[in-house]
Amino acid sequence: MTVHFPFQNSYSALPDSFFARVAPTPVAAPRLIKLNRPLAVQLGLDPDVLETPEGAEILAGKTVPAGADPIAMAYAGHQFGNFVPQLGDGRAILLGEVIDKDGVRRDIQLKGSGPTPFSRRGDGRAALGPVLREYIVSEAMFALGIPTTRSLAAVVTGEHVIRETALPGAVLTRVASSHIRVGTFQFFAARRDTEAVRRLADHVIPRHYPELSGTERPYHALLAGVVARQADLVARWLLVGFIHGVMNTDNSSISGETIDYGPCAFMDAYNPAQVFSSIDEMGRYAYANQPRIALWNLTRLAECLLQLFGEEQEKAVEQAQEILGAFPETFSKAYQAGLRRKVGLFTERDGDEALIQDLLDTMAKNQADFTLTFRKLGDAAGDPAADDARAEFMDPADFDDWARRWHERTAWEPQTAAERQAAMHAINPIFIPRNHRVEAVIQAAVNNDDYAPFEELVKVLAKPYQDQPEYEAYADPPLPDERVLQTFCGT
Ligand code: AMP
Ligand code: MG
Repeated sequence: MTVHFPFQNSYSALPDSFFARVAPTPVAAPRLIKLNRPLAVQLGLDPDVLETPEGAEILAGKTVPAGADPIAMAYAGHQFGNFVPQLGDGRAILLGEVIDKDGVRRDIQLKGSGPTPFSRRGDGRAALGPVLREYIVSEAMFALGIPTTRSLAAVVTGEHVIRETALPGAVLTRVASSHIRVGTFQFFAARRDTEAVRRLADHVIPRHYPELSGTERPYHALLAGVVARQADLVARWLLVGFIHGVMNTDNSSISGETIDYGPCAFMDAYNPAQVFSSIDEMGRYAYANQPRIALWNLTRLAECLLQLFGEEQEKAVEQAQEILGAFPETFSKAYQAGLRRKVGLFTERDGDEALIQDLLDTMAKNQADFTLTFRKLGDAAGDPAADDARAEFMDPADFDDWARRWHERTAWEPQTAAERQAAMHAINPIFIPRNHRVEAVIQAAVNNDDYAPFEELVKVLAKPYQDQPEYEAYADPPLPDERVLQTFCGT
């Protein structure tokens, strides 16, 4: 059996300055540890064939499949606010693109597949832990309904990578609507290569924003489109308690997908200042800073696109500022609408925003678990006698005071208790990738070659909104001694 990928590559047809042609470096003994079978089918790939040894060799970068045109993409980026003119895929190789069952073009990329001309001092490899973390969290995000890159497969390479210690090496097959980043535009803009910026924009518009093709001012519209999608994306992150951890411009996708899962994590107790990443010492990418940082990144994109606006500089800057000016309102609308849904409000009344903010403030003060508070609020909406949510608050009386106001408010609406509960449970997850669970899964795999905990966690997280009584423990926050306070990039 041969593995057939129906490649239709478009990025590698762009000018040579956009990438470096480079093949993955073969590894010693690839072993498939996870294939995402439904995703394979969605991509038009045969999961049975991918699960053969030949399939594993492709997913490990040992064999290049027919039709692939492997490249490492060039990009630049602001890392923690500092501009680096050349980053690029230092440990990832784009095999090519396929058109999926919905007609959407998808990149198939190997991450951890060996050095490229962009590797700088890195080894081009990935350790098993970060590969599993990305697999788990990206697929959990997908199941939550949040735009994201996906994970098609994870393989172990049979080789070690040297970090602080020797760790098992792995390769993740990542699927994205593209890997074009804010930093991709910056790469060319920093070189004052206006023609390349234009080429890139002309590639991006039909690919990611087809509705804009043929508009009068397509590059203005492109900026507005990215602003809108990023505003919506970050609102969705906040609404599930997600902290990206490394919102550098090179980790900010033009398509509006969540990309580059490094030291990311979901918060347990609600704390707007929460940071997990070990490398984020200043809290630049703290939970509540994420909207501000997204706008900062979009401003860097705007700077790249100015030269395409066809105006004198001053006028172009004014226009860009106007487009960027939409971000706060777009974000706020999405975030507030999401919060209203989270507390089960169907209509809008004066005072709602304050009521919701009071809940968040009370949660912060009482270290209430973010996910379980909203989920249990849904239980209370269905049955006012269900008062489990109280237990999430250090001082349950604080919750009682708020809940009284909330019950008064919901009584104004015609929906039945059952309707409100169903609506709330459909958007307030019970299962998120809790950090301590992710860590435990990684430890079992790395230390004991045991993937059963990984399989089980992935299975539970595939249905985040559904009660799964046999897996109830996965909903629990960590016990004090299970708390994971820091996450690591693993690079
Ligand atoms: P990241 O922190 O994963 O977003 O990566 C930032 C930059 O460092 C990108 O250009 C990566 O390609 C590069 N990089 C990260 N890890 C490695 C590695 N092990 N080998 C080579 N390049 C790497
Ligand atoms: Mg990155």
